[in-house]
Amino acid sequence: AQEAYAALRDKPAVSRDGIRVALHMNAGLMADLPSLVPSGAEGVGLYRTELQFLVRRTVPKRSDLAALYSKILSSAGDKPVTFRTLDIGSDKVLPYMKRDPEPNPALGWRAIRVGLDRKGVMRMQLQAMLRAANGRPLRVMFPFVAQFDEFREARAHLLDEVERERKLGHPVPDSLKIGAMLETPSLAFAPDQFFEMADFISIGGNDLKQFFFAADRENERVRRRYDTLNVSFLTFIEQIAARCDGHDTPVSFCGEDAGRPVEALAFIAMGLRNLSMRPASIGPVKRMIRNTDVGEARDVINRARRSGEQSVRKELMAWINARGI
Ligand code: PEP
Ligand code: MG
Repeated sequence: AQEAYAALRDKPAVSRDGIRVALHMNAGLMADLPSLVPSGAEGVGLYRTELQFLVRRTVPKRSDLAALYSKILSSAGDKPVTFRTLDIGSDKVLPYMKRDPEPNPALGWRAIRVGLDRKGVMRMQLQAMLRAANGRPLRVMFPFVAQFDEFREARAHLLDEVERERKLGHPVPDSLKIGAMLETPSLAFAPDQFFEMADFISIGGNDLKQFFFAADRENERVRRRYDTLNVSFLTFIEQIAARCDGHDTPVSFCGEDAGRPVEALAFIAMGLRNLSMRPASIGPVKRMIRNTDVGEARDVINRARRSGEQSVRKELMAWINARGI
């Protein structure tokens, strides 16, 4: 199977009925970058910057971060990298950051909430990204945005930093794209202006699913209770894809489910055209896409939705198996 996937490396992810899907990889360490070319990924759709903060005993220095981000951009070459700003809190706790114990950390002080309250760290990280880009294109996304104002404020900080760099005489990115992760249901219902302001949106399905079903992703007892192929969740994904399309806002999905071929197919059938996953999943997902007719998969899902089934998994699997995909 590995060889078959390697043979697919330079082939596009196009379905039998001509639907083209962009497949990107998720990364979090410099050591992940060598997978970029062999995996066939078109770029890094999610670079989780928190790992660099988690492996240290103190806040990393701006110059160290800039050097790391610069190496990442260089090793990605022409392929785009989307840096996600520090996503801590919830399950990711920095030993050197003082915080009070929280009754519900997943619903607590995390990600962009920390960034906006501790602007020094966020601005330092944004400066490191700008220095690293050194005039090259840069893509930055903010995690766990729950409402428009958070995105607007974080974006303004980034634009301030660009201005500051310019005044200091440093090169600024020739193309700067600023996006938001859609990880809370609230953001899907944000005002139109949010979708117009965001250069791109990435659905963080791991978190979005936990909040959609109110089921803690860290709690073994409940985390597998709700199927990703649940009709309610798929319908929600479909609505998000349509809303983004309506504003011409590029949208991707970067949670773990994007790397599962059946789930990936269902997301594509719901309208998504860009997925980001661990590098090893790109071959299997690409194989699924190239062997299927997305329109037919959509019909199967729609039939299952109309039948009152809670999940479309049974019907979709039966169809996939019958086709020998
Ligand atoms: C997600 O929530 O789907 C996501 C990609 O972010 P993380 O898993 O790092 O929370
Ligand atoms: Mg998340």
